[in-house]
Amino acid sequence: MNTLHHGYWTFFATRKQRYTGWFIFGSLSPDIVYYVMFIYLSVIRQAWQVVDDADPMRSLFGLVHDLFDHPVVFVLRHAGHSLLVWGIFFVIVLIWKGRRLSMWTAFSYGWLGHVILDILTHHDDAVPMFYPISSYTFKSPVSYWDDDHYANVFSMVNTLLIAVSLLYLLIKKIRDKRRSQKVHDS
Ligand SMILES: [Zn+2]
Repeated sequence: MNTLHHGYWTFFATRKQRYTGWFIFGSLSPDIVYYVMFIYLSVIRQAWQVVDDADPMRSLFGLVHDLFDHPVVFVLRHAGHSLLVWGIFFVIVLIWKGRRLSMWTAFSYGWLGHVILDILTHHDDAVPMFYPISSYTFKSPVSYWDDDHYANVFSMVNTLLIAVSLLYLLIKKIRDKRRSQKVHDS
């Protein structure tokens, strides 16, 4: 799933909890490497020269392609999307900070949500679940981006759910406001 949607759904699921920001941060964390390295590669390659490029889209695709081949991106993408790496991190958090909800456990749960959602929405580009000790890869029947694997259906359902959930939040906000006004007036 794309990074923004990870963040949104994590916000929606944890908005009434404490440490919502840490849940969201955890849910964005496995993908942060793409953005950092995209900027890094753009700068070292002076990608702004793309403006003078005869075929700017091709240069951009080339950059994105090389991004995923970059060893730093490869290792961090695989580690960040591995249930095993997550599990080791979580055990350390449990031993060190305990089970109760804290910024550390909230970050861990947000991260886990990302890994699970990605396992369910990647086919050809799925990451081995227990990297680096096993190459077993679950290829989900649904891909969030590949139309050969129902990306169009996924995208429609996801967009619809986001719209409905936003409407729900909006209606609730208006109701709460009215209610507090009534209490205030009486
Ligand atoms: Zn991801």
